[in-house]
Amino acid sequence: MSRQIRLRSVAIGAALTVSAVVGVTGSLAATNDPQARAGGGAAWSYEGATGPANWGSLDPSYAACVDGSVQSPIDIVGATSKAIANPKVAYENSEVIVENNGHTVQANALSGSSITVGGVKSELLQMHFHAPAENMIAGLRAPVDVHFVHRAADGKLTVIGVMLKVGSQPNAGWQPMVRVLRLQNISTASEASEVTTTFDWAAMLPKDRRSFRFAGSLTTPGCTEGVSWIVMKQPVLLSAAQIAAFKGAYDNNARPVQPINGRPITSDSSR
Ligand SMILES: [Zn+2]
Repeated sequence: MSRQIRLRSVAIGAALTVSAVVGVTGSLAATNDPQARAGGGAAWSYEGATGPANWGSLDPSYAACVDGSVQSPIDIVGATSKAIANPKVAYENSEVIVENNGHTVQANALSGSSITVGGVKSELLQMHFHAPAENMIAGLRAPVDVHFVHRAADGKLTVIGVMLKVGSQPNAGWQPMVRVLRLQNISTASEASEVTTTFDWAAMLPKDRRSFRFAGSLTTPGCTEGVSWIVMKQPVLLSAAQIAAFKGAYDNNARPVQPINGRPITSDSSR
């Protein structure tokens, strides 16, 4: 894999480096980004002629966006309660490369973190966000929805969704991401910028790991199905100022909810 060429690097604080990059062919972003850049097809957006209502006709590889039957996101209702094992989360502290890809701000995990669900291990690829939230829970929509994207050895994707809501305190676990979001070159969608920093990935999840489980798709073109969704029931609370940093970068990058079409939804009722 060819790596991006760094033209300049400027240290900001202890562990934050801003780099201007060119030559993204074969970059980490292109290979490590199934959620936001699947297929590399026609340009798409969240409004107007290239918006969600028209994704299915923009490119043959986006057909599932209109033809699919198990699409994401959904409004999670009618779940069946069942005691199920929490995902086994083995998230490490790690260096990440954060970029604004024109649809979201995404942090690419460089190595080391994984989850195990039903005996199947999946590596953490990247985390990105949608504002407002894409999945809804019983008709309620959080201000921000974070997607942790994992891939198993057989290529299957599992996405952990975490709702971010406004609480009274700043959240230390999310502060490294917030610092990056406040940088001008990231928040304003400069495609030639990336930032290297460090995340304590485990600190970004809710402590209560009970979840809703259901089948779905990528929420961006090509809307590929076969994605396992694990949506955490408990939100993570950030300060209003931290939430504002997300919305400062993107405030309309959520696909509307899609029909459930009878798919089973499990609600973990374990205690
Ligand atoms: Zn997403």
